Amino acid sequence: MIKITFPDKSVREFPEPLTGLEIARSISNSLAKEVLAVTVDGKIWDLTRTISHDASVKLHTWDDPEGKEAFWHSSAHLMAEAIEQIYPGTKFGIGPSIETGFYYDIDLPGGRQLAEKDLQQIEKKMVELARQNNAIVRREISKAEALELFTQKNDELKLELINELEDGTISVYEQGNFTDLCRGPHLPHTGYIKAIKLTSIAGAYWRGSENNRMLTRVYGVTFPKQKMLGEYLTMLEEAKKRDHRKIGREMELFTFSEAVGQGLPLWLPKGAQLRMQLEEFLKKIQKRYNYEQVITPHIGDVKLYKISGHYEKYGKDSFHTITTPAEGEEYMLKPMNCPHHCEIYKSKPRSYKDLPVRMAEFGTVYRYEQSGELHGLTRVRGFTQDDAHIFCRPDQLKDEFKKVIDIIFIIFKALHFDDYIAQISLRDKENSEKYIGTVENWNKAEQAIIEACDEKGLKTTIEPGEAAFYGPKLDFMVRDALGRSWQLGTIQVDYNLPERFNLEYIGADDNRHQPVMIHRAPFGSLERFVAVLIEHTAGKFPLWLAPEQVVLLPISEKYNEYAQKVLNFLNIYDIRTIIDDRNEKIGRKIRDNELKRIPYMLIVGEQEAESDTVSVRRQGHGDKGVMTIKEFAEMILAEIKDQQ
Ligand SMILES: [Zn+2]
Ligand SMILES: [Zn+2]
Repeated sequence: MIKITFPDKSVREFPEPLTGLEIARSISNSLAKEVLAVTVDGKIWDLTRTISHDASVKLHTWDDPEGKEAFWHSSAHLMAEAIEQIYPGTKFGIGPSIETGFYYDIDLPGGRQLAEKDLQQIEKKMVELARQNNAIVRREISKAEALELFTQKNDELKLELINELEDGTISVYEQGNFTDLCRGPHLPHTGYIKAIKLTSIAGAYWRGSENNRMLTRVYGVTFPKQKMLGEYLTMLEEAKKRDHRKIGREMELFTFSEAVGQGLPLWLPKGAQLRMQLEEFLKKIQKRYNYEQVITPHIGDVKLYKISGHYEKYGKDSFHTITTPAEGEEYMLKPMNCPHHCEIYKSKPRSYKDLPVRMAEFGTVYRYEQSGELHGLTRVRGFTQDDAHIFCRPDQLKDEFKKVIDIIFIIFKALHFDDYIAQISLRDKENSEKYIGTVENWNKAEQAIIEACDEKGLKTTIEPGEAAFYGPKLDFMVRDALGRSWQLGTIQVDYNLPERFNLEYIGADDNRHQPVMIHRAPFGSLERFVAVLIEHTAGKFPLWLAPEQVVLLPISEKYNEYAQKVLNFLNIYDIRTIIDDRNEKIGRKIRDNELKRIPYMLIVGEQEAESDTVSVRRQGHGDKGVMTIKEFAEMILAEIKDQQ
């Protein structure tokens, strides 16, 4: 008898050893068609591998990252097989699955370079091979056999990889005439892959080192259904239109300058307006939740980061240190705000009655990112966190978590992120020596997070083993308008820094105790958040946030003066208004201003000037008719109030 336990703790018994695919089939035929990989006792396996002992089993479909990974990794092999057939003698580096799709690093024979048009031929070959439904078979061989195999293939890239493996069995996967060194897992056969698109070619150094030869990296994406590829390509088109770098330019929000340096965004007036608006919004909420605002410098003595452990962790090469020759002091750009806040906590004695202490700062930090990794506002070298640290007693953790969740709810609602889930990362109980802090505190903290989420009715997934060594955490993943997932908002418990900084408070028992620290940043960083927000809204920000809320369009120069009068009136109510007084036709003015995504356009001509009215157009809603200036101001103020 083989006893199989499922994630929901249900158990099924089978008379003899069987594969993951057979387990799926025993549940339902439709599941058997959907399933792509299986986790057996925590290890991911091929669906066709026989399970011959009692095990806990999780079946993965396309909806799980594990399912997609097996699918895309198998697709990388399929692409390699196609390339080998078209260009015999090609050498293969590594070919992993990535967030969307897969790539393979290859070295074509005779120094041949691939062009975009060659991709079509490879795609065609892949389709042909996929339709052959070739079984993908795992084989375990000795290291010597593996070396022999890839020596025959004359593939010194793979030989280099094999030589680094420990002696013992090595797995290879075969399909048709193609064999690849691989850990797996893979799909049962190539026929699962129904839709194929090779997306791009790039250069990549072998093993990421500039000292090595340059290989060709071919990227692709595949799907189990043709329709899904169509949807994906449409989404890509839409994503291109919403690219925050493009919209940022059109709306004049931010720019980069080579003279200033890579990955260092410059916020233009409208972008700065947007950012300040976000900061004000958050400050107001935080005030309601009794946070205190602090300000700390952009650099710190390296000694501070030696205490915090950041110096050791990030390495001294990651951040430029600044030495003052006269005094011989060594400083570092601030990679984190936490150490500074710990020192603020220590600036006076704290009693149990003073806790929790909630310290907030829009703190700019600097982290080195390789230039190839930089991307618009999402990957930068200097960014501002909406950071806060809460120092509390262990018994206050749950309440504090609930309050932070409330703040995150308010933000998501005001910014129209309606689709999100939360992930709770807990410790790996079998390796408890990895973690700092007492077992009792960990139990309490994990329980507090789970209960807080529960009481807030939050949809969560629990990931054992994903916690940092210094504490469990809660992460929010939002889905944007295009269905893409972004990680925003983290709430992290920390037992490490209070210990390293010797933080304490005097308890009711008159003894010294260590507070628990919570790091939290609902936006993450303002830079990345603005990027996500631009792509989510396509630059059509909620009215309260729009850098410019109203644009006045006089029909001709004759009415510029009246427009100015309307603007002055709206200014009294702090409604952010501009006038387009260019000598252009009204149709042209409307088109140009649509690109700027200003929520309200007010058209003014003779009739409006005579009756103290404006003709109102709302972006996305068209004509709203004529109203008096006062009516308009009241309407817009009500809308803003409603949104926050
Ligand atoms: Zn592989
Ligand atoms: Zn922190």
